[in-house]
Amino acid sequence: VKLTELDPGFMNHPESGLMLLFRCPKCNSHHIGVPVTVGIKQPGRWMITTRDFETLTAVPSLRYADPPTKDTCLYHVSIKNGEIIPA
Ligand SMILES: [Zn+2]
Repeated sequence: VKLTELDPGFMNHPESGLMLLFRCPKCNSHHIGVPVTVGIKQPGRWMITTRDFETLTAVPSLRYADPPTKDTCLYHVSIKNGEIIPA
């Protein structure tokens, strides 16, 4: 699925900094927020190559369990060139 189909956005969180947001590609019913940096590798954050959702690549792959009270959306994905791929 394309990242652009998952209602993507950016948010500046007061504690977590820049977050990439997109709808859960598994259940489509909630958003996932991932702390990112653009073009720089930093511990605990994902590096994204661009803010352009059409061509964005994230490194490394993303593993999440969201919402934290349920384990129904344990999921592992890669974002490569704007495409979300199960990892
Ligand atoms: Zn979900």
